[in-house]
Amino acid sequence: HEPGHDPNCLFCKIVAGQIPSKKVYEDEQVLVFHDIHPWAPVHVLIIPKQHIATMAEVTREHAPLLGHMNALVPELMKQLGVTNGFRTVMNTGPDGGQEVYHLHLHAMGGPRPWLKG
Ligand code: 5GP
Ligand code: ZN
Repeated sequence: HEPGHDPNCLFCKIVAGQIPSKKVYEDEQVLVFHDIHPWAPVHVLIIPKQHIATMAEVTREHAPLLGHMNALVPELMKQLGVTNGFRTVMNTGPDGGQEVYHLHLHAMGGPRPWLKG
């Protein structure tokens, strides 16, 4: 396996193309695809291609990657027709409601986005 790839991880399988996804954007560092159970009219997940399980493992060495993930959001939202604001969320760990243990930034837009749960 490639370094940074966890063969048992759902989102690593999406990165590797072993599980299909509705891809929105891709570059060397990140992949963006539509969430399978959207909480808002537009709901995408921005993930690093390398496996990082959770934000709890993030250090300041990851700052460029996290900056890149966040800085992509406005252009992604624009591309997806979101014109009236959006919400970004990163759930971390059991108490943070994290379900998939591969780092991901939720970006949600469209009329009246609602909170999870
Ligand atoms: P978390 O609660 O970990 O922050 O969110 C995980 C998100 O991944 C959920 O919003 C869920 O709908 C989404 N998700 C889980 N499995 C899949 C999948 O196989 N494909 C896609 N596109 N999204 C998924
Ligand atoms: Zn992974």
